Amino acid sequence: MTDCTVRNVVEALDARYPRDWAESWDRVGLVLGEFDHRVSRILCVVDCVPETVDQALEAGADLIVAHHPLLLKPVSSIAPDTFKGRIVHRLIRAGVALYTAHTNADTANPGVSDALAARLDLAGLRPLVPAEGAAAGEGRGLGRIGELAVPLTLEQFARFAAGRLPATAAGVRAAGDPGRAIRTVAVCGGAGDSFLAAATRAGVDAYLCADLRHHPVSEHLADGGPALLDVAHWASERPWLDDVAVWLRAGFPVDVVVSDLDTDPWTVHSASEKETHP
Ligand SMILES: [Zn+2]
Repeated sequence: MTDCTVRNVVEALDARYPRDWAESWDRVGLVLGEFDHRVSRILCVVDCVPETVDQALEAGADLIVAHHPLLLKPVSSIAPDTFKGRIVHRLIRAGVALYTAHTNADTANPGVSDALAARLDLAGLRPLVPAEGAAAGEGRGLGRIGELAVPLTLEQFARFAAGRLPATAAGVRAAGDPGRAIRTVAVCGGAGDSFLAAATRAGVDAYLCADLRHHPVSEHLADGGPALLDVAHWASERPWLDDVAVWLRAGFPVDVVVSDLDTDPWTVHSASEKETHP
């Protein structure tokens, strides 16, 4: 078996998720790690946090492939008594490299929202917001639109989505008429506020994403926009890890472990005793 190095995997990841496909504010690529270190095990995670670092060390991983950037904003210190500095120190000391594919993986085809759409059995996928610039063409862009094989009511679709997405305390909540017929669905892995208008323009029946808030949702519905489903951020992006893992296993002589550790910050969901549907 030929050796596989951090450089080999990073070059392949950079080719699958080119850095110039990321949004201008984003920070992607190799965060830390020695290019010539051998890689025999990779851990795929949504978030590089102390709990997933523990998991990487316990699993004997040589490389973490993460979706969210550890260091998105500039820092002036990685002292070990800071939250992120401690992570950097632990990883370097253990010889574990860290790689991020974020909005470049959102834009890619297949990308983060394709994996989310696949969990919901959506067919005929196309971008919600087609990519422009370096990433333009070939079905690339942010979010995806597809069709359900059988129309569902909003209430049924919310239950279906909750059953298909990774389980979280937050679960799935929906906004709009519970009896509304849903066939064409837009999805976006991660925070989706900024594409509410795009979902309305696309004429979909429902738009599913994470991190929705009261005022944008109320105003969107008052303007006649599609029904909305708000899911846990982690749950919306976790399906992509399987796609990356399959691709890494096919390309390299490595073990790939997918983290199922729920890194969503919401840990309790307590529904009120309220009649939600007549
Ligand atoms: Zn995200």
